[in-house]
Amino acid sequence: MKLQYSFIIRAFSIQSMSIIINCAGDTSLAERIYEHILSKTRLNTEFVSIREDEIEIDDKRSNLTNNDMKNLLEEYLRLNAELKDYSATQFGNLFTVGIVSPDLKNELLTCEMCGYTTPFFEELFAHRRAHGI
Ligand SMILES: [Zn+2]
Repeated sequence: MKLQYSFIIRAFSIQSMSIIINCAGDTSLAERIYEHILSKTRLNTEFVSIREDEIEIDDKRSNLTNNDMKNLLEEYLRLNAELKDYSATQFGNLFTVGIVSPDLKNELLTCEMCGYTTPFFEELFAHRRAHGI
């Protein structure tokens, strides 16, 4: 157990230079959020990149905090009525945007590598990525 914890801490320190937003396989949503980030923050595309369903922001150069990003994502979901079932979940510097099934809310999902639990499938997905898989 001790070994697994140190692995997680190391994985996060490697990733701490950037904010990652994963759209759980939805590439068109990722594009829309990408455009939203660019228009709201006026960040140069040099700092923000998109690859399929994932957006990466170099926060060392952008000065954007995790909190700024959370507010930005929540605002975007609020402004778009068709995204009312979507939510943005945060795990460190990883954000996952996706639909949370009401069925899953009563059921905790468990990470098989460290025992971390969450009701959100997207969050578990983002969490597993922190293990480097
Ligand atoms: Zn885990």
